[in-house]
Amino acid sequence: MTSSLSGPFCVVDRPGNTDASFNVTVQNPATVDIAWTPVNSADSERDGYYHVNLAHDYVKALDPGLTQMDYAVPCHVEQTGDVCNAFYDGAGVNFYAAGGGCPSIATLPDVIYHEYGHSVNDHTYRQAGMGFGMVNDALHEGMADVFSAVASELALAQTQCARLDGALGRLLEVAAPADREAVLRELHVVDLLNQQIAAVAGFVGRLGDGAPAALIEVGPALQSITLGEVAERIGQGVGQACASPAGASEDIDFF
Ligand SMILES: [Zn+2]
Repeated sequence: MTSSLSGPFCVVDRPGNTDASFNVTVQNPATVDIAWTPVNSADSERDGYYHVNLAHDYVKALDPGLTQMDYAVPCHVEQTGDVCNAFYDGAGVNFYAAGGGCPSIATLPDVIYHEYGHSVNDHTYRQAGMGFGMVNDALHEGMADVFSAVASELALAQTQCARLDGALGRLLEVAAPADREAVLRELHVVDLLNQQIAAVAGFVGRLGDGAPAALIEVGPALQSITLGEVAERIGQGVGQACASPAGASEDIDFF
């Protein structure tokens, strides 16, 4: 049985090197868990595949009608010839290998979202009838940053919510009866947070429609709870600090 980091919305390539590959011989019938590890793939390959797919899910949740993003976006990682940079080439996203004080750029999710945002810009314009896509470079960069910022906040918050939900569910299974109510309360909070994230995502998606009703509908929900409050309570409850997500801390210009 073989597998690779290639699917309907992303195909990862590591130019000049062996691409990520999973191989195992099994007897039929068999159930196989495909484990992607540093032995069969580079960090940048796994991160590239995961976050390009996350970005695709995110943009489709906002705009299901954007069918032009339903293609296997080429994701080239560990590129040579430059460092500390990334670019969109009109079809795929490209990320340079580690060097010059920078990590392998495809291991930085917000940079992946930025470059994917360029593809969203182009394909949104193309679907609307502009054959060359978005031609205003300043708008291209600005909207790619907007996509990166919003996708980072909402898509990842939703993912973390799902993980938190799963972790609390497992905690509930082993919690002493006296603690069950506290865990259930936090589960309820996570549910509310999930609803809030979905509401904000829906709201952002409707901004282009200029629907004033969306503002009225979402306003009260925003005041009810914040991610920070949940993080604080969970952190106190289990005595663990909430680590900041890793990301680019240096001021680097990405194209
Ligand atoms: Zn850019």
